[in-house]
Amino acid sequence: MHAWTMQHRVDQRSIGLVPTMGALHEGHLSLVQASQRHCDATVVSIFVNPTQFGQGEDLDRYPRTLQQDLELLAAEQVAAVFVPDSEEIYPAGFSTFVQPPAVANSLEGVHRPTHFRGVTTIVAKLFLIAPVTHAFFGRKDYQQWKVIETMARDLNFAIEIVACDIVRQADGLALSSRNRYLGTAARRRALLLNQALDRVVAAVGRGESQPRDLERLMAETLCPGSGAGVDAVDYATVVDAETLAPIERIERPAVALIAAWVDQTRLLDNRLL
Ligand code: AMP
Repeated sequence: MHAWTMQHRVDQRSIGLVPTMGALHEGHLSLVQASQRHCDATVVSIFVNPTQFGQGEDLDRYPRTLQQDLELLAAEQVAAVFVPDSEEIYPAGFSTFVQPPAVANSLEGVHRPTHFRGVTTIVAKLFLIAPVTHAFFGRKDYQQWKVIETMARDLNFAIEIVACDIVRQADGLALSSRNRYLGTAARRRALLLNQALDRVVAAVGRGESQPRDLERLMAETLCPGSGAGVDAVDYATVVDAETLAPIERIERPAVALIAAWVDQTRLLDNRLL
C-alpha cells in the first residue's frame, strides 16, 4: 500500500483516501465520488477498527459485507481498496497510541472514553501507510471530523482533510451502517433525530438564539423513554461549531449534535446552524 501510494506521488498524481469500516452505503459513496472529482486516484480503506470500540460495544456484530462493498467500489472505479487484517494493523506487542486533541474530550469523548484514541491511532496509521494528498471524511461524524482535522494540523500531516455533507434517505434519516440493526418500528423512531434537528433549524430561523431553549426543544422531540420516543439520549446539545465548547448564545457558527439510542442501536446526527 505504501509503495503503491509513493509511486503515485513520484508521478505527481494526487491521491484521495476514504477511510471506512465497510458495510458501504450512499454516504460512503458520496465521499468516494468527492475524492474521484478532486483527485487523480482514489483509495478506499475498509477496516473495522477494534481499538475504537469500547468494552460491550458492537464490534462483534458490526456488519461486514466485503463482497458487496468491493462490487460497489468497482462500479465507482476506485484505483485501490485497502483491506488489512487486524493482525497486520495491530501485531502482537502493539502498544503505541495517538493521544487525541482536546476537541475529543466532550460529547462522544464523555460517552465513549476510549473511542477517539482508537480513531486517531488508526487514522494516523492509515496516513503513514498511505501517504496520500487528500483524505475525505463525512460531517455525519462531526466531532470525528474535527478531531482528525486537529490531529492532522497538530502532527503536521501534509494531507488535506476534506469534509463532505451528510447523505440522508428521502425521509431524512442519516445513512449509517448501523441503520441495518433497526427494525421497522425502531427505524420510525430513529427519524426523531432528524426531526429534532429540523425543529432547531426552524427555531433559529425564527430568531431563537439560546442554546438552552434549543436543547429543550430537542429533548421534547426525542421524548426519551416514552415508548413513542427514542429509548435514551446521550446528548442533544448546541455548541460552538469549531471548538465544540458550550456557548451562551448563537453568535458564530454553531452545531446541534444528537447521540441517542433506539433499541440497542446508538445513532448520531447533527446540523450546522
Ligand atoms: P464509517 O464506515 O462509519 O467509519 O464511516 C466512514 C466515513 O463515512 C466517515 O468519514 C463517516 O463520517 C462517513 N459517513 C458515514 N455515514 C455518512 C453519511 N450518511 N453521509 C456522509 N458521510 C457519511
